[in-house]
Amino acid sequence: MSEIRVEGHTGLLMIISAPSGAGKTSICRKIMQMFPNLHFSVSHTTRPPRPGEVDGKDYVFLSEAEFRERIARGEFVEWVENYGQLYGTSKKTMDAFLEQGYDLLLDLEPRGARTIREQYPRGVFIFILPPSLSELKARLAKRGESDAVMENRLRTSLDEIKEALWYDYIIFNERLGEAVDRFRAVYIAEKSRRTRCMERIESFFQ
Ligand code: 5GP
Repeated sequence: MSEIRVEGHTGLLMIISAPSGAGKTSICRKIMQMFPNLHFSVSHTTRPPRPGEVDGKDYVFLSEAEFRERIARGEFVEWVENYGQLYGTSKKTMDAFLEQGYDLLLDLEPRGARTIREQYPRGVFIFILPPSLSELKARLAKRGESDAVMENRLRTSLDEIKEALWYDYIIFNERLGEAVDRFRAVYIAEKSRRTRCMERIESFFQ
């Protein structure tokens, strides 16, 4: 894979996952404002845009037929069906960013994250969790849905939380500012890994 082949030349790949109710979107937004070298990977989806979402910025919104054509052409490095909708990451866009030396943040559910881990083992995998089960319940309850829908969401969230076990870093999101600080700390530490700084070290001896 390109990320391994051109050691030192490529950007850092970070993958963030979270169950619903963990506050991932707010963390990502803050992080993206903080680091201009870190780009957000815009995914493709068949789900309709929510109010305020912009095509090409939040997602590339596609019809199912178009999405399936892209699958057939092998354009997605990973894709999944999630709640009846298709989501996928473009391999070309992703590699273009990394090869230019930009860092890239991917927001993926865990199945997609696993596929990326197989192909980009040097990626950094971060899982955001709510601070506790009671807080998760409280956050889901705030959405004002029926008990049955809430129960279902809670079960789904708990299944997703099991996936946290294979991620590299866990961030408990109790307060947004602190969670953002922790993400920032992981990013800076990962950028400082010796294996990612070899080219710069070698430049001292040329
Ligand atoms: P939403 O529809 O709420 O924006 O996203 C639903 C879920 O899909 C979230 O967990 C998000 O992380 C995930 N997701 C968004 N884009 C992709 C993608 O390209 N691939 C995968 N595997 N998951 C995605």
